[in-house]
Amino acid sequence: MPLSFKKSANIARMRPSATLAVAARARTLREQGRQIIDLGAGEPDFDTPAFIRQAAALAIEAGHTRYTPAAGIPELRQAIALDANRRWKPRPLVTPEEVIVSTGSKQCLFNACMCCFGPGDEVLVPGPAWTSYTEMIGLARATAVHVPGDPANSLKTNAKQLAAAATERTRGLIINSPINPTGAVYAATELSAILDLAAARGWWVIADEIYIRIAWGAAPSAFDLARSRENLIVVNGVAKAWAMTGWRIGWAIAPAQVTLARTALQSHSTSNACSVSQYAALAALSMHSEADKALAEMLAAFRERRDLVLDVLRGYPEIAHVHPEGAFYVFLNVAGFRGAANAGTAFAEAILEERDVAVVPGSAFGAPDWIRMSYANSLPVVAEGIARIASFAAHSG
Ligand code: GLU
Repeated sequence: MPLSFKKSANIARMRPSATLAVAARARTLREQGRQIIDLGAGEPDFDTPAFIRQAAALAIEAGHTRYTPAAGIPELRQAIALDANRRWKPRPLVTPEEVIVSTGSKQCLFNACMCCFGPGDEVLVPGPAWTSYTEMIGLARATAVHVPGDPANSLKTNAKQLAAAATERTRGLIINSPINPTGAVYAATELSAILDLAAARGWWVIADEIYIRIAWGAAPSAFDLARSRENLIVVNGVAKAWAMTGWRIGWAIAPAQVTLARTALQSHSTSNACSVSQYAALAALSMHSEADKALAEMLAAFRERRDLVLDVLRGYPEIAHVHPEGAFYVFLNVAGFRGAANAGTAFAEAILEERDVAVVPGSAFGAPDWIRMSYANSLPVVAEGIARIASFAAHSG
């Protein structure tokens, strides 16, 4: 008799990734022959830089195709530690023993939640926030407590609001800057106050810094501001900065004991991250002049696209949006769209069906009146996309 599938308690409350769902829907429509303008998933449109691809090809030829240590090849762990010490001001300096390489920064975040949180724990999530944090915290059987952002401050959350949302069950928080989905960036004073609060309360801080290299002004790292790293897990990766989303390499830098626990967890799930990808990431982090040049070229392109989006929006003062200072997203308010209660979802569905533009509804990030557009697409595509979005928002209200 076929076994009917009843979801286990582990995944009973889990929802699939809304960002990946938009990407999949856009792909399907394209396969059906529709010319979709995909401003959905946050994925750079550039090719991975040639020097990185070559390093990967060389790694294959050199036979680096077997298991590696679960925490990553020593050269890459070393390069990650050196990179953190070179670019930011961690006190004390980062050592390779604190570094674990995982299958994308997503696995780093997931493992951090599994290792630090459990049943009964509450984890503060300043909102709007990336869709997967809530699910990861839930998969660890803890509870995500969303702390709404301040509309007067680019929808960012401050230490006072976090303190007010805390209970005796609070065990940590996930802070992301530059922020997916808004593109806002926490100023040093704001981030310092949050880190100080967490340190004083003995909370874990998971700092998701995957977009930190993509910013148009100062984008302080938790490394620059934390007085101690005892409660700090900093997550980063190569996906966004060097257009390496498919290679799946991220890393976490955490106290050595936490890294040991994370390594044990990883050893029972995925083992090491892809060996070839690790050598590709090693090139991105150690061939500095090539890496800096490639990054600078991509940043210039992102900046041009962002400025274009802002130029178009200047013509539509009625469309409220968060001023984007980093990452490659613009968060737009579509409240009241066709009278829908969940305006962002209604807008995202309608603009995909009626204007062939894919965006992500804000409900995926805990902000139902908003939509997120990614400008990680070519300039003409972004230009056409924002023109359609703006006129649709302005004329379909
Ligand atoms: N993080 C990107 C996004 O928000 C990629 C998709 C995902 O992993 O969620 O679109």
